[in-house]
Amino acid sequence: MPMTESARESISKRSVPFFNYPYLYQQNGDDVRARMEDVLKRGAFIHQKENWEFEKNLAAFLGVKYAFGVANGTDSMNIVLRALKVGPGDEVVMPSHTYIATAAAAALLGATPVLVECGPDHMVDPDAIEKAITPKTKCIMPVHVNGRTCDMDRIMAIAKKHNIPVLEDAAQALGSKFKGKFAGTFGIAGSFSFYPAKVLGCFGDGGALVTNDDWMAEQIFLLRDHGRNKDGVMVTWGLNSRLDNLNAAVLDAKLKHYPEVMKRRREIAAMYQEGLGQLKELTLPPGPNADPNHYDIYQNYEIEADRRDELKKYLADQGIGTLIQWGGSAVHMFKGLGFDHVRLPITERMTARFLMLPMNMALTDEDVAYVVKHVRAFYGH
Ligand SMILES: *Cc1c(COP(=O)(O)O)cnc(C)c1O
Repeated sequence: MPMTESARESISKRSVPFFNYPYLYQQNGDDVRARMEDVLKRGAFIHQKENWEFEKNLAAFLGVKYAFGVANGTDSMNIVLRALKVGPGDEVVMPSHTYIATAAAAALLGATPVLVECGPDHMVDPDAIEKAITPKTKCIMPVHVNGRTCDMDRIMAIAKKHNIPVLEDAAQALGSKFKGKFAGTFGIAGSFSFYPAKVLGCFGDGGALVTNDDWMAEQIFLLRDHGRNKDGVMVTWGLNSRLDNLNAAVLDAKLKHYPEVMKRRREIAAMYQEGLGQLKELTLPPGPNADPNHYDIYQNYEIEADRRDELKKYLADQGIGTLIQWGGSAVHMFKGLGFDHVRLPITERMTARFLMLPMNMALTDEDVAYVVKHVRAFYGH
C-alpha cells in the first residue's frame, strides 16, 4: 500500500521504539479486559473453559484437528521430541539461524542439534538439511523465521524419502502460509509461541502445539499435564507445561482480531518495500506480494545492510529502535555449547549484516515514513 501524502510530510523528529510493550494491553483493550475480569472473578486460573475455547478456535483458524495450549514455545518442542523418544545419541537437524530454544529442546533431551545453513530468504536451506541426514537423525525441525514459511514441499519430500518426522518451529509464523497451507500444519506437529513480542502475544509466557495426528495428540495431552489422562489418572511421566487460563482468555480475545493484525503488518512491509526497495546497500525480505507461494505475516522485518552497525547507531540517534535478532549470533556461534567445530559461512556472513527494523501494531504510517527517510538518508539518498 503506498504511503499517504500526510505520512510523507509529517516526518519531523519523533521516537519510534523497536517494540512497544504497553501497547499490548491497549490493543483490543476492552475485549481483553472483559475476558480477564470474567476469569479473575470466577477464580478460573488453570485449565478452565477459556483454555478449551482458545484451543478450539486456534485449531479452527489453522484448519487442524488438535491444538493444545502449553506454557511456552520451548516446552512445546521439548514435549514433541520427548513423544518421539528423541534422546542421547540421536540427532535433530535444524537451521543455525534460529532462537536458542529450538536447539535447547533437543539438547536438553541429550540429543545433538545438527545446525545447517539458511538460504537467501533467511529460511533453512533444504539441500543443507538433506546433506546433514545420517542414520542417527530422529527429527527435522524447520523454523519459519520472521513469519515466513520454509519451502515445505522440498522439506516434506526429504523427510518422506528418509522416513523422518518433521516438527515445525512456527513460533514466529502463526497465520503464515506456503502454497495456501498454514505454517505448523505440515509435519507431525507445529509449535507456536505467544511471548509478548510475538505477532499473537500474551501477557507473559505462553505457547501451543498443533497436530493432525491422533497418536501425537494423545502424547501432547499427557506430557503437558503430569502424564494425566482424561480420567485424571497418571499413566506416564509428564511435565507441568499448561497455558495459564488468564492468558488463554487474552489470546482467545486477540485471536478474533488476528486477520487485521496480519493485514496491517503486510501493509507496513509494503511501505518499507516501496521506500527502501531500490537501495543497493540493502537486501530486504521478500515483499508481501513477491511470490504467490508465500503468505508472510512479518513477525520481523529482518533486512541485510551494508555498514550495519553504523546504520543501527545512526537510527538510534534519530530515535529509531532496531534490533539484531538473537544478539547477532546464530546458534553455532555461541561459544561453549559444543558447536566450536561448526562452520556455516553463509549464515555467518548474513548474520553480520542482519538488522530488524520496527515492525509492530503500534506503528503509524508516519512512523514508517520516518524510518524510511532516515535509512535512505544514512546511505546518502
Ligand atoms: C520465540 C521463539 C521460540 C521460543 O518461544 P518461547 O515461548 O519464548 O519459549 C522458539 N523459536 C523461535 C524461532 C522463536 O522466535
